[in-house]
Amino acid sequence: MGSPNENPEMATAYSLIRFSTPQQAKGDSTRRQLVASERFCAERGLTLNRTLHVVGKSAFHGDHVATGPLAEFIKLVEAGKILIGSWLIIEAMDRLDRRDVPTANEQFIRLLRAGIVIHTMIDNQTYTYERIKNDLTAMLISIIQMATAHDYSKKLSMRISAKWEARREEMRAGRGKATNACPGWLKAIDGQFYEVPERVAVMKRIIAERHLSLGRHEISTRLNRDRMPTFRNGDGWHPSTIAALVRNKALIGIYQPRKADGSEDGPPIEGFYPRIISDDDFWRAQWGPDNKLGAGGKTKGLANLLRGVCKCARCGASLVFLNTGSDRFLVCSKARRGLCDNRYHRMYPKLEAELLSAFVLFDFSRLIDHANPQVNRVAGLEAEIAAKTATATRLLKDFQEDTPPLVSKQIGALTAEIKGLTAELSEARRNARIAEARASFDAYTEFGAMVAWMPRMEDDERYLLRTRMAGELRRIIDTATADGTAMTIALRPAENSRVEILIDRATITGFRITVIADGEPLEPKILPRQRLDEYSPSRAGMLAGFVGEENVAA
Ligand SMILES: [Zn+2]
Repeated sequence: MGSPNENPEMATAYSLIRFSTPQQAKGDSTRRQLVASERFCAERGLTLNRTLHVVGKSAFHGDHVATGPLAEFIKLVEAGKILIGSWLIIEAMDRLDRRDVPTANEQFIRLLRAGIVIHTMIDNQTYTYERIKNDLTAMLISIIQMATAHDYSKKLSMRISAKWEARREEMRAGRGKATNACPGWLKAIDGQFYEVPERVAVMKRIIAERHLSLGRHEISTRLNRDRMPTFRNGDGWHPSTIAALVRNKALIGIYQPRKADGSEDGPPIEGFYPRIISDDDFWRAQWGPDNKLGAGGKTKGLANLLRGVCKCARCGASLVFLNTGSDRFLVCSKARRGLCDNRYHRMYPKLEAELLSAFVLFDFSRLIDHANPQVNRVAGLEAEIAAKTATATRLLKDFQEDTPPLVSKQIGALTAEIKGLTAELSEARRNARIAEARASFDAYTEFGAMVAWMPRMEDDERYLLRTRMAGELRRIIDTATADGTAMTIALRPAENSRVEILIDRATITGFRITVIADGEPLEPKILPRQRLDEYSPSRAGMLAGFVGEENVAA
């Protein structure tokens, strides 16, 4: 694993330009891609290597990976023929792999880990292993882009559904005109609407970020930061544009005819435009106060995973969750009423993302559906031993010296059983640890994917997952206190140690670990965030042993 080349003047860039047919190779699309790569390399001082510009197959079924230039590239990287710090420039994530998201993600991580810098032209994102390690959001965006690429491929595979064909017939019959000013992510050609893929990708990103609870200000800031082109000419993205786009029912195919003065002209026409997102995704993305439907029903109570967990260090009151519509905060409930000076408003979405990324350091296997059967076996044996010990103890106590022979026999049998069960338990515990270590990699990957997919989950599934996450946070957190911008989350103490998560604003800055020897706490050690920030499976569960499982109420 290397770090990206510090001196970009030395670096070589490989651009993966793909065309399905030789005709296309001569076409505009290729020229556009080539010019864009050349311009990008000139700007960044990279040397463009053109050996990967070949007529390729679709990346959808992975043929591209197996036989195409990407496979060639990966082979060269893994043979050490491509220098660490070289760039791979692709138009969009779909150029990498359009198979399922985990497969695409695996290719992506594999290249980054080998020290390759990947740049996607369509959204102007540069990914390095360091970046995705330190920025969960970057990882989420890449996964969302891959998911979009996959969706788009699926859509291409069944280009025109019968339903859409029927809608178009209606349109031709005069129910609407495709020449009307159409939403920015579509274009009208000969009375038909077509998706503009890069703009549809932007819309899906905006919706996904709304599902992550980002406000219109943050979404527009992030789009501008990533230099995403706007749909209309102008000076970048505005919060008001984001709000209007998110509210636009054209996303779910609905057209509302309007009179010249802007008032509604007749009922809305469903299926007028090609649908971009599901109804659920649309309604979940809406803002609360002015749109009751957007509050999200069941998920509402779980907007705050830390509900009832955090306290103000100055007055002891609970921190409350504040939803201003565009932003979400945690703040001292008394400070809100002017009764405490701890007035710092902590950004909630960022804090949640941080804590979820730290989950990997503890035991997150409980959050994944298929629980480790060995763990259940351990729990079952523990319960059985506890019940039998209680019976034996009660019998001994009831009869004291005067134990009738029959009862003595019963106690003897129980004692033998407990001995056997205890032996079985230590065996089961060892097996559970082995199984856990083995499952660790899968669980890590699955947890990461699950968090990434959370915004796209159906309401029920998302609600259940968030319930489990909230439960898991309550299980591992002993106290969480906020004092100004600082926040300290103490995990339930184990017998010989305790861990505190140190947070400034909404960012984890480190972990304070106190080891207790002979009942006396030793000098605490601070593990800076950077040292623990490797999102690698080998780190999974590394802090689990520091958290007191035995103190946790069932
Ligand atoms: Zn307070």
